[in-house]
Amino acid sequence: PEPAPLTAVPQSGDPALTLLHRIATTDPTDLDDYRAHGGYTALRRAFAIGPAAVIREVTDAGLVGRGGAAFPTGRKWQATASQPDHPHYLVCNADESEPGTFKDRVLMEGDPFALVEAMTIAAYATGAHHGYLYLRGEYPRATARMEHAIAQARSRGLLGDDILGQGYAFDMEIRRGAGAYICGEETALFNSIEGYRGEPRTKPPFPVEKGLFGKPTVENNVETLVNVLPILTMGAQAYAAIGTEKSTGPKLFCVSGSVARPGIYELPFGATLGELLGLAGVGDNLRAVLLGGAAGGFVRPDELDIPLTFEGTREAGTTLGSGVVMAFDDTVPLPRLLLRIAQFFRDESCGQCVPCRVGTVRQEEALHRIVDRAGADARADITLLREVGRAMRDASICGLGQTAWNAVESAIDRLGAYE
Ligand code: NAD
Ligand code: SF4
Repeated sequence: PEPAPLTAVPQSGDPALTLLHRIATTDPTDLDDYRAHGGYTALRRAFAIGPAAVIREVTDAGLVGRGGAAFPTGRKWQATASQPDHPHYLVCNADESEPGTFKDRVLMEGDPFALVEAMTIAAYATGAHHGYLYLRGEYPRATARMEHAIAQARSRGLLGDDILGQGYAFDMEIRRGAGAYICGEETALFNSIEGYRGEPRTKPPFPVEKGLFGKPTVENNVETLVNVLPILTMGAQAYAAIGTEKSTGPKLFCVSGSVARPGIYELPFGATLGELLGLAGVGDNLRAVLLGGAAGGFVRPDELDIPLTFEGTREAGTTLGSGVVMAFDDTVPLPRLLLRIAQFFRDESCGQCVPCRVGTVRQEEALHRIVDRAGADARADITLLREVGRAMRDASICGLGQTAWNAVESAIDRLGAYE
């Protein structure tokens, strides 16, 4: 598909510091163009201040993971950097597979050198000399752009044994996924790189201690890493002034569904859902908005004042996830949509643990019955869905099973989906 349209609302007063500012304005295949537009300023600063100070900057900036879980990035980096076991690895999770998510694709296709630079900084800070970019198999253009960018950087001494003549060695390779949603779960991703089935491992131990090949590993999402560039360029304090106290910096939102202008929107944390949907052009017949993707939850049209922050969505009983915002107007048949979500989880369960392997099947069967008997009393199936949902949430090994009931539950409780 063609890249999504982009809208960046500058947050720092300096449009040149938005995450999207090089996309569609610079040539993504030209390293010189990247450098002419601020490229490699952040890495130079990283070398100037040293690894410990880089981690301090990332910590002080308040950066948290943009893959969906919002874990503090500085804490993750510090925990890996301090491990005595070696080697350390860096893994960039580019297996973007949450339905409705396409921000990492846009970043990799439109600004690939930024990810190479950001990965080099993350590796330098955490003591890694080898990195893996685990890239979604269905992203051929992003793969080609990243392959080209890595080769260019290597040929110009920006990857390799002596980066920028600083005596630091780092190189990276791409591993492509093969279509399994579960391989975006970090430990399933490690298994996939190692040549095993893509099945999640139990945590703890966390990857910072025992990750890829059993070694200390930093695993970060594409958008998380790219945020390190403005942090080092503008400084932690200026970065932390963007957004809210607890959700700092800019955020990319993937807006799709019943809107006039679907695409990627870059806004400071703290804008409301209504403001974002206003930019995207939402109609009067809005029925529901799905936040966070299939693993997220629905909100009603009268809840558009929810602030788009991790804490604000949590307080409102929903989730920001990785920034999916899917709008549905009243022409969308909700029961069929929920059935489609349930089919997705049943398809994508790796089958390793019973609550998820069996629960996702039982959930789909119940939703099928409700659709097939449209208009009939659904109470017995709703009771069953709640029991199955609770078992999946409480007893599944990984996030897939733990969240497979979220969207259906919120549709029942917030939208009155089957009333
Ligand atoms: P998690 O909360 O288990 O972990 C988040 C990160 O923090 C992981 O890297 C984990 O290793 C680290 N971590 C947690 N506790 C730690 C500790 N005590 N010490 C060191 N590190 C620690 O979440 P998860 O299962 O990795 O991810 C779930 C999220 O992924 C959900 O929010 C979901 O929305 C999102 N998701 C995103 C996509 C996508 O395409 N972007 C797809 C599926 C799911
Ligand atoms: Fe596999 Fe589902 Fe269990 Fe995760 S919760 S390990 S996807 S069966």
